[in-house]
Amino acid sequence: MSHALRDDGSLTESCEQCGTDTPHEVSIEIRTEGSGENEEFSREPYRVASCTRCGHETTTRMNDR
Ligand SMILES: [Zn+2]
Repeated sequence: MSHALRDDGSLTESCEQCGTDTPHEVSIEIRTEGSGENEEFSREPYRVASCTRCGHETTTRMNDR
């Protein structure tokens, strides 16, 4: 992990669009998986980091194994 968490809640991560480390705004989203036909859809937390320079979003499933 090369993340540097800062006081304002933003952190610096590499952006594939910018090709360099840029400040990112990070939020957590709960997204529902499944089509709806199956009632056993699950709600998974995703970490969404958006580059404050170009706006590119990187979504990472948090409990991916
Ligand atoms: Zn960027």
